[in-house]
Amino acid sequence: MTDSTDEDVSECHQCGDTVGPSADQRVVTTVEDGTAVYQYFCNDECFEAWELSSSA
Ligand SMILES: [Zn+2]
Repeated sequence: MTDSTDEDVSECHQCGDTVGPSADQRVVTTVEDGTAVYQYFCNDECFEAWELSSSA
């Protein structure tokens, strides 16, 4: 059983790259309309870029 687990693969919310299990990835939980939403980022740079753009 070595099938790929698609559900474990997410895309970076900032650049769209695939975010794999790595030490660099960042996961941020935001709440939209009372629902928890997980935002994935491939590294701190993407997270900070998104944070800047979303707070502007
Ligand atoms: Zn990214």
